[in-house]
Amino acid sequence: MKKYSHILFDLDHTLWDFERCATETLVELYQTHQLAKLGSSSVEVFCAAFHRVNYRLWDLYNRGEYDSERLRRERFFMVLDELQLEYDSSLPPILAEEYLATCPTKGYVITGAIEVLDRLNQHYPLHIVTNGFSDVQTTKLEYANLSKYFQTVTTSDGSGYRKPNEGIFHHALNRISTVAEECIMIGDNLEADVLGARNVGIDHIYFNPKQENHTATVTHEITSLRELIGIL
Ligand SMILES: [Mg+2]
Repeated sequence: MKKYSHILFDLDHTLWDFERCATETLVELYQTHQLAKLGSSSVEVFCAAFHRVNYRLWDLYNRGEYDSERLRRERFFMVLDELQLEYDSSLPPILAEEYLATCPTKGYVITGAIEVLDRLNQHYPLHIVTNGFSDVQTTKLEYANLSKYFQTVTTSDGSGYRKPNEGIFHHALNRISTVAEECIMIGDNLEADVLGARNVGIDHIYFNPKQENHTATVTHEITSLRELIGIL
């Protein structure tokens, strides 16, 4: 089995449990701002609308069609519009601000993350390569007690490039002072993490917990983080 010198991890949905952290934050916002009174049928519908809008916007962001400010500014307008709620235009910016202040402080991680990081950390320098805002990603790492595991954290807004753009990977390799052949990248996004890494010659592990169908050729594929211990 090939030996690597450095392991690169994606953060959201790979180590940090975005789904759980976001949902808990949204439930709090829903209750605090009494969104039911504005015509929202249920908190589940509100959460589902958020995740739909968010997924769409992050896809646009990853393709360079949206910047981070616009994503943050427009996200809750789009959610409330999608639910056809009657709202005051001052509400979405308040929701946006509270969401950003709260969500990154939720410390839920993906099952097995700590156990695997504890183990891998004994044998490899670990790094983060993430499409995200530096301030937000740093907060997530700290509140989830993950900061201590990582020697470098490369973000899209810090590097000026978003995965799958090779610029972010080159930026990370430069910071680590290593080369592509010495590294392996682990992530849940087939395009951003897997194809991105492959395009610069970095081996990769596709974390596919929902066992989504695909036709990509990958170095390794796992459905649980614990499987990493058998691979690395
Ligand atoms: Mg991810």
